[in-house]
Amino acid sequence: MSESDYDLFVIGAGSGGVRAARVSASYGAKVAVAEEYRVGGTCVIRGCVPKKLLVYGSHFSEDLEDGKNFGWTWENAHFDWTKLRDHVLGDVDRLNNAYMDTLKNHDVEMILERAEIAGPNEIKLASGKTVTAKTILVATGAWPDVPEFPGSEYMLTSNEMFHLEKLPETVIISGGGYIANEFAGIFNGLGSEVIVVNRSDVILRGYDESLRDRLLQIGTSKGITYKFNCTFDKIEKREDGALDVYMDGRDRPVVADVVLAATGRRPKVDGLGLENAGVETNEKGAIKVDEYSQTNVESIYAVGDVTDRVQLTPVAIREGQAFADTVFGDNPRTVDYDMIPSAVFSQPPIASVGLTEGEARSQYGNIKVYSSDFRAMRNVFADRAERSLYKMIVEATSEKILGLHMIGPEAPEILQAAAVAVKAGLTKQAFDDTVALHPSMSEELVLLK
Ligand code: NDP
Repeated sequence: MSESDYDLFVIGAGSGGVRAARVSASYGAKVAVAEEYRVGGTCVIRGCVPKKLLVYGSHFSEDLEDGKNFGWTWENAHFDWTKLRDHVLGDVDRLNNAYMDTLKNHDVEMILERAEIAGPNEIKLASGKTVTAKTILVATGAWPDVPEFPGSEYMLTSNEMFHLEKLPETVIISGGGYIANEFAGIFNGLGSEVIVVNRSDVILRGYDESLRDRLLQIGTSKGITYKFNCTFDKIEKREDGALDVYMDGRDRPVVADVVLAATGRRPKVDGLGLENAGVETNEKGAIKVDEYSQTNVESIYAVGDVTDRVQLTPVAIREGQAFADTVFGDNPRTVDYDMIPSAVFSQPPIASVGLTEGEARSQYGNIKVYSSDFRAMRNVFADRAERSLYKMIVEATSEKILGLHMIGPEAPEILQAAAVAVKAGLTKQAFDDTVALHPSMSEELVLLK
């Protein structure tokens, strides 16, 4: 008989936790996963998946408009928010069930309640029961960080945006990062007035400047308002639910139905009982781990956003997989964090891998930049002014690719494939040697000047 109740107890059934649980169980470990909300985590339940569906849904307004030059007319085209919302939430239910089935099929025990660490090998469940495990994996993710000022409690976070009763007439979005730009595109596409308010003078800090400028220009031309170096003073709620939003010391408020806080996410460690086992965190509250995701306590590991390494789903999945291979698969593995592609599902989307021009210049000094600034064939035909921009940054002598950045229709779809070449260390010449696939947007990648 095992001395512990479980070989592995996972806290949090998100992308990282589910992968770690499933793979560890396939190696023969006795595994339990505790989840206080729904199985699937942020990405599936209130993040990437429902967000992408809303992006698709909102883009039809442009598609319908563009269809005119392609010979189509639509009489009385009408958008129904509740229909889209409920269909999206239905899909989330489907995925939630699929995740639960996967765990069940791998003999992972699901404990649908809150769990806290009670000691290096002990977990206390919300029901009051205490269980033991040889290894504990914390995969609790991250949670929206809402700034504090008078009335900030009236702000919503991305968590609630998928459940809105009705389509807002005016949305004010605080922040200029991923979530701000993605929801700005969604609500702009659905017909709401959108105001993006950021504390600094940039959007999407960390992405290449030319792409950020292009998104700003296109977003503005689509009717999104951007306010920079702007702070919130207070928000007051009227009896009818409308919000008076006071900004930048002005006496007159801007009236909005929804104010979204998209100001970053912090590791979800509150009430997790880390102190009961002496697990160390860093200054941001993230759990400190080594390259094998092991904390300072030998029996406790952590993966995903709670460690604040790279806050992306595919990274959490890789960390969960590497953990399982290392601890239960007798195959010690670490995650390679170099050249991780990323995308912002703004409209148009941005996709990127490697160094920005600014980063490459300061790290390498001697670089070359190749680019293509073009209007996609479909946009030309539809009389849409929107231009795409692709940029390749190479080391000047070897022409090895240091970074590849794109903004334009389907940029994430195109970049994922191109990122393989960049990750493999190929040069600009390898792209030039490849015959163009015509007519396509991706052919611009092998025709960069
Ligand atoms: P981001 O870190 O992308 O952006 C945060 C924004 O809020 C920045 O513009 C920042 O300003 C501003 N900000 C930060 N703190 C404050 C504050 N205290 N008061 C006012 N403004 C503030 O965070 P998001 O919330 O958009 O997204 C969280 C994370 O989720 C992302 O980092 C990403 O890892 C992940 N995510 C990934 C997506 C994807 O892969 N497509 C989609 C959605 C989320 P500034 O930088 O100008 O100082």
